[in-house]
Amino acid sequence: MKGYGGKILNVDLGSRDVTTEPVSTEMAREYLGGSGFAVRLLFDRSVPNKDAFDPSNPLIMAPGLFNGYSVPTGGKVVFCTKSPLTGLMGDSVMGGSIGAELKHAGYDAVVITGRAPNPCYLLVKDDEVEMKDAGDLWGLDVPTTVEKIKSEEGNVRVACIGPAGENLVRFAGIDCDDRQSGRAGAGAVMGSKNLKAIAVRGTRDLVPHDPTALMKLNVEWVRKMSESPDYEADTKYGTGEFLDWINSEKGTFPTRNWREGVFDNRKEIDPYYWAPRYSKKNKACFSCPKPCGKLFVIESGKYAGLAIDGIEYETLYSLGGACGNGDVESVAKGNEICDAMGMDTISAGDVIAFAMDLYENGIISKEDAGGLELEFGGSEAELALLEMIAKREGLGDVLAEGVKRAAEKIGKGSEKYAVHVKGMEPPAYDVRGIKGMALAFLTSTRGACHLRTCAYALELTGKFWKYQDVDRLSSEGKGIEIKELEDLVVMYDVLGVCKFSRGFFFASGFIELIKATTGSSYSEEEILWIGERVNNLKQLFVLREGMTREDYVLPEKITGVPIPEGESKGHLVTIEEMNKMLGDYFDARGWDQNAIPTNKKLEELGLKD
Ligand code: SF4
Repeated sequence: MKGYGGKILNVDLGSRDVTTEPVSTEMAREYLGGSGFAVRLLFDRSVPNKDAFDPSNPLIMAPGLFNGYSVPTGGKVVFCTKSPLTGLMGDSVMGGSIGAELKHAGYDAVVITGRAPNPCYLLVKDDEVEMKDAGDLWGLDVPTTVEKIKSEEGNVRVACIGPAGENLVRFAGIDCDDRQSGRAGAGAVMGSKNLKAIAVRGTRDLVPHDPTALMKLNVEWVRKMSESPDYEADTKYGTGEFLDWINSEKGTFPTRNWREGVFDNRKEIDPYYWAPRYSKKNKACFSCPKPCGKLFVIESGKYAGLAIDGIEYETLYSLGGACGNGDVESVAKGNEICDAMGMDTISAGDVIAFAMDLYENGIISKEDAGGLELEFGGSEAELALLEMIAKREGLGDVLAEGVKRAAEKIGKGSEKYAVHVKGMEPPAYDVRGIKGMALAFLTSTRGACHLRTCAYALELTGKFWKYQDVDRLSSEGKGIEIKELEDLVVMYDVLGVCKFSRGFFFASGFIELIKATTGSSYSEEEILWIGERVNNLKQLFVLREGMTREDYVLPEKITGVPIPEGESKGHLVTIEEMNKMLGDYFDARGWDQNAIPTNKKLEELGLKD
């Protein structure tokens, strides 16, 4: 089939069985690739209701359809598993080159099950698949691991975990090319399998259905992206470009564990301050002509020599505003620790902000914190705690469980300071002033998430895609809005395209690219239908794993405490608003009011069986 490597690789690390099977034309037609393949395979291959760390839990790596075909920003690959953080869908997308390499090796997905008796890494060189000893890699940080595997194996692409994944930190991620599959803990699942890394070399040519048409389209999309009015600011300041706008003009930058929606000490963490001082060059994901990453370098002072890929907007929030830390150099240092140890910066920062809130409210003491003074803004304590979490030392061992479990362990009323949805710590949008995002946090099958809808872009500007004049402070009309955004946005993960290109492609833009790549024709309705199908399959998975209507709840800080100041002062999401938006969403989805897809809907989507 044009557009595909053609095979699924199955690896059982326990029995060392390696098999391959062809990708069926039916699967290609109905799920396209990437998240579509991964979610289908996870649903079919997992044993229901097993713990995420059970060897049977599959860890699936699936490159989006466009990987290997030079589609601009089309180099995304998904890691998908049952999440150890939420017990729900643990899908997380990264921009590393391993996806394209895998397709060149002939594979559209790798399904890894079992647990190796000893640390190992998986080496895939076209048809040759080996499990190699990783005893001397275990305990090493991410950059050292990559360096050692490359010096041993030569020209391979490497995705690996750091010590956090080995230590089963529930929000450990997977790294490739300084890009992370961060959210939901796929790195911990990899650690539970004694799998340190996956190294891939592929040498086959990938020939699309219509090379001339595809090249023309790719050139055209690159031109459109580079001529867009936002291109210069996006590439100069990165994803944090809008930080001050979200903070000062909207009042929705969650600060000090969601006490406030405006960060008074934000000056240094605003990219308009730090990019001219610390950014040495732009960095991009594989196959991206719109580099939003930065090489952030500190040349002098106590962090002299630091050089990271960052700092991304979410990290400026989590290690910055959420912890009350306005010192950009220490935020960069925290970013470096998370990347080297292999931890999601969002959850790591959020869980520390939670601990700081407990400390300031007298629920945990200096003694509990191993002698650290955990006031908001204490950057030294923040950095020390990041290391303790990755190594599971002292209080870090409790926090490595994530906010929800940590609150249950600590008790003493700490639940009211725990900001999470379905066990997932939130990203950088104070949804008390962005009602559609509050609904998006609730409906996402991986918990509080900005990337399943990108609804912040619509809600904060009032317009996006086919929507106009949307009021972020109203709860009206959000059910259909979030349903439609979810069905559109999941297609970016299916095709492997970056969501920062969402202002360009939409569903209509994908049609010609898919045709030129695979030869298959789709209408815009069919593209959105596939999106709806994948989202329903995700829902069936989380329902099977035990999620119920009771899990659709926002934390008390969002439903009970209004934003105290700024442009969104006085706003919150009441319980009534929350339930109304959820009811509207379930109706829009064709589900019953317990969030269960109706038989009619499943028949419509071909998912009845
Ligand atoms: S826009 Fe940024 S995040 Fe998206 S592919 Fe390009 S570099 Fe990666």
